[in-house]
Amino acid sequence: MNGHFAAIGNGPTAKQYDHGIQVIDEDKSFNTNLNDYLTETHVAESGFNYHLISVFGSQSTGKSTLLNHLFGTQFSVMSETERRQTTKGIWLSKNKRDSANGSPMADNILVMDVEGTDGRERGEDQDFERKSALFALATSEVLIVNIWEHQVGLYQGANMGLLKTVFEVNLQLFLKDRQSQTRSLLFFVIRDFVGNTPLENLRTTLITDLSKIWSSISKPQGLEDSKIEDYFDFAFSALPHKIYQPEKFLSEVDRLGARFTTGHRSTKDQEFVGGVFLPEYHRRIPADGLSLYAGGVWDQIVNNKDLDLPTQQELLAQFRCDEIAREVLVGFDTVIAPLEEQQVEAIRLGKPAAVLADLGAHGAGAREKCIKAFETQASRYHKGVYTMKRGELESKIDTRLKALYQAQLTAAHKAGVAAFSDAVSGAVKAGQKAGGSYEFAEIVEKQKAKALQIFKKEAQSLSIPGVAWSNFKPQYRLFEKELDEVSARLRKEEMRRLAIRVERWVRSRLGDAIGLEFNKLGSGRGGSVTSEGAEKPATEKDLWDRVWNAFTGIVKEAETRFADRAKSFEASHEEVEVGLWRLRRKSWVALREKIEEEVMESNILMKLRENFEDKFRYDEDGVPRIWRPTDDIEGIYTKARESTLGLVPLLSRFRLSETYAAPDLPAFIGTQPAGVEPEDEEDLLPIGGIDEEEGKSLEEETTVLSESKRQDLVVRFKKMADGVYVEAKRSAIGGITQ
Ligand code: GDP
Ligand code: MG
Repeated sequence: MNGHFAAIGNGPTAKQYDHGIQVIDEDKSFNTNLNDYLTETHVAESGFNYHLISVFGSQSTGKSTLLNHLFGTQFSVMSETERRQTTKGIWLSKNKRDSANGSPMADNILVMDVEGTDGRERGEDQDFERKSALFALATSEVLIVNIWEHQVGLYQGANMGLLKTVFEVNLQLFLKDRQSQTRSLLFFVIRDFVGNTPLENLRTTLITDLSKIWSSISKPQGLEDSKIEDYFDFAFSALPHKIYQPEKFLSEVDRLGARFTTGHRSTKDQEFVGGVFLPEYHRRIPADGLSLYAGGVWDQIVNNKDLDLPTQQELLAQFRCDEIAREVLVGFDTVIAPLEEQQVEAIRLGKPAAVLADLGAHGAGAREKCIKAFETQASRYHKGVYTMKRGELESKIDTRLKALYQAQLTAAHKAGVAAFSDAVSGAVKAGQKAGGSYEFAEIVEKQKAKALQIFKKEAQSLSIPGVAWSNFKPQYRLFEKELDEVSARLRKEEMRRLAIRVERWVRSRLGDAIGLEFNKLGSGRGGSVTSEGAEKPATEKDLWDRVWNAFTGIVKEAETRFADRAKSFEASHEEVEVGLWRLRRKSWVALREKIEEEVMESNILMKLRENFEDKFRYDEDGVPRIWRPTDDIEGIYTKARESTLGLVPLLSRFRLSETYAAPDLPAFIGTQPAGVEPEDEEDLLPIGGIDEEEGKSLEEETTVLSESKRQDLVVRFKKMADGVYVEAKRSAIGGITQ
């Protein structure tokens, strides 16, 4: 990096710029306050809409006087009496006139008054002449060459030496910058023009001399055949003597001033149309970079380095683009930094609603404004550098926006999932309260659409047209996927609730139906005892068949209820299968518990007693027996007792009459379907013969009364029956005595 570019700091402020600014002082130092001057005179903000003119010529040929009249400037002028050199180094001033000779002048004309070169005070300082010529050529569109009329044709004169220098340094510059189409205008202003020789003739003489000079200079390799017209255009003007013809001088200067306006080359004959400022003369250095550029160029010149303008322009572009980027980022920061802070704070506090309002609009607005501002200023600089720096700026901005947007969507995702889950649960609860008539699938569908809509709106609001990273479809899909997962979980909970409801229903139905079957045991009728012998009554023999039928009937109905309801909320086939499997298992367990309740000692003993008494105390026609001493009380008693005792083995095992074996429980429950998750099994009691690892057989599972319980029951029953018998015997004897 050129040291000069980095060295720009804050110079002294609020200077008096009445006389313009000394860009290069007598010690050949560049004045870094140039930019202040350009800013103060509002040239800095003009982009390319400014013009730079330099004036050359011998000492004390009225250059400064001319400029002051032409442009209203206040360059120092030698007093008529002292005759000392006044202009030192290079001064610059902005044109202070709006119009000349009644027509408007170009905007923002900057004029450089260059120290004269015939060396009366400086001696033969060819060095400064050369350096200032280089500097002027690198920056100026128009070079005014100020010359006395009597000097025209004096080929050996001091002016010719100056022009030779100008041509040489010009070639030196263009050796490095062959691509550039930049030309310059050499504007000859002939002073103290008497008028005897027509201007046309003077012009011819000058052009002849210029061609001679051009052919005399040694040209660098590759440019040997170049012509003077390849680099320069020429213009001429003559002014009368200022002292002798003061009024004419002023009016001619005014006419001359009118030529300092924009112009172009006619496409037909290539002749100039309009003023002297042709677009092709412009050095294309944006006004806000002019000071830096001029400083960089001067730095190279003064250190006798090869002046490489394209490199200077690139360096300038890099420096300015960085500067401009920093400036525009400040604006971006004012909008974005508070949002970033807000977001960080919301996340830190774990707020679920960390979704910032209108983030997309704010972000896109700040981005657009920032890039537009950069484009406006920076696009004037070297195209390649500008494009690269713009890319850097965009990626800087986008890195921050991206982080902001992604966090925003993460927040929107979280908030959306929570809201969805709450809304579904809430609607289910409300539905349950209102009597359970709600459609789970409908609730889910409605709430999902709502949640997706909100998320989509947010994602779309964050999307920036033509910016790939701001397409948030993947995030949207992720959100939808999680909603589906939450739905699945909620549906599972809903299935659980349904299962519990159906299981309760099964229990209640089993309670009634199985209770009824067992109650029938209490009645020994329908298969009563005759004196011939006991017959196992039909109602008792097929107890288990009836229990089994009632059970399977109830379960079937429950399964239908469960499946219908589960399908209504769009449970998958697999989920339904798992639910049914659980239902059958739980139903079996419920049945077994009901049976256990029925065969609890106190209950079953009462049933056996009722059964026995029915058989013993009533005859075949159901008429109560009045015992007479002649009756075979003992025989009837024995038969009734044996008949009732016959129930005990029947009750002991759950066996179907047809097969005389336990029902096919494994077939009824079915194999465990795929998709049973551990939590599905958690609350299931083991079932013998089905859950192998329990080591219990189906035989055990269907054993209702154990051997010891059976014996105990028989003993108790017999005791009870004996009591009844004794009582009957007593009543028979009593009947006789009465
Ligand atoms: P500079 O050194 O080229 O900038 O010349 P100045 O503008 O300082 O003027 C030098 C002297 O020439 C001053 O004394 C002026 O009065 C005088 N002068 C200015 N204009 C003219 C002119 O058109 N003709 C003549 N003969 N003298 C002029
Ligand atoms: Mg001067």
